Amino acid sequence: MMKKKLIIAIDGYSSCGKSTFAKAIARELNYIFIDSGAMYRAVTLYCMRQGFIGENYLDHDSIAAGLPSIHIEFVYNPDRGEFDTYLNSENVEEEIRGIEVSKYVSRISTLAEVRTRMVELQRQIGMFKGIVMDGRDIGTVVFPDADLKIFMTASVDIRAKRRYDELTGKGLKVNFEEIKKNIITRDITDENRDISPLRKADDAIVLDNTRMSVAAQMSWVMKIIEQKLNEN
Ligand code: C5P
Repeated sequence: MMKKKLIIAIDGYSSCGKSTFAKAIARELNYIFIDSGAMYRAVTLYCMRQGFIGENYLDHDSIAAGLPSIHIEFVYNPDRGEFDTYLNSENVEEEIRGIEVSKYVSRISTLAEVRTRMVELQRQIGMFKGIVMDGRDIGTVVFPDADLKIFMTASVDIRAKRRYDELTGKGLKVNFEEIKKNIITRDITDENRDISPLRKADDAIVLDNTRMSVAAQMSWVMKIIEQKLNEN
C-alpha cells in the first residue's frame, strides 16, 4: 500500500526556528520543504530595488502592478544541500536574509494583492502533498485542511540570540539590539494586519521551544507524525 502523504503547516513568531524545524521534518520524511517567508522576502527585495518602498513611503499601486513581473523559484544548491531562493533567475538567497529586507518585509506582507498571489503559488506547490511549509498563515489560510498544524513560539531574547548567532555565523556584522527590535516590530505588524494576521489555528498544536534542542523537537514531532500516518 502507498504510504499516506501529509501536508504539515508550521506557523509562528519570527525567528522561532520554524524553517530549521520544518527542514528537519522534510528531510526525515523525504518531503518537500517550502519556506513561504522567503517568497515574501523575494517580493520585498524586488520592491526595494524598484524603489516601491522606503523608510517613509510605500507605493501600493506600483507594487500591485509589478507582481506579474516577479518570478520566484527554489533551486537546489548542491554545495549547501538545500534550496536557494531565486528572484527572476537571480540567486537572492543571501540578500533576502539581511536586515534591510527584514526591515521592510512585514509591511509588504500586509498588502492584499501580495498575499493573494503568494497564497495562490503556495497552494499550487502543495497540490501534490508530502510537503512541510512554514510561515504565518499556513494553517489558517493557505492549507486550512492541513493534516498537522504546529504553532511555534519562544521567548524574544532567545529568538534574537538565535538570529544573531545565525547571521554572525554567516560572517555578517549585526547588532543584537537591532535584531531584537526588528523581531518585536515584525511580530506586532504580523499579528495586527487586517488580512491573514499571524494567529494560531484552532486545531494547531503549540510548540514553545525556548528550552528545547532541535533533536528534542524532532523526537516530539515524529511521535505525532507517526500517529497521523497510522490514522485511517
Ligand atoms: O519567515 P520569515 O521570518 O522569513 O518571514 C518574513 C516575513 O514575511 C514575516 O515577518 C511576515 O511579515 C511575512 N510572512 C507572511 N506570511 C507568511 C510568511 C511570511 O506574512 N506565510
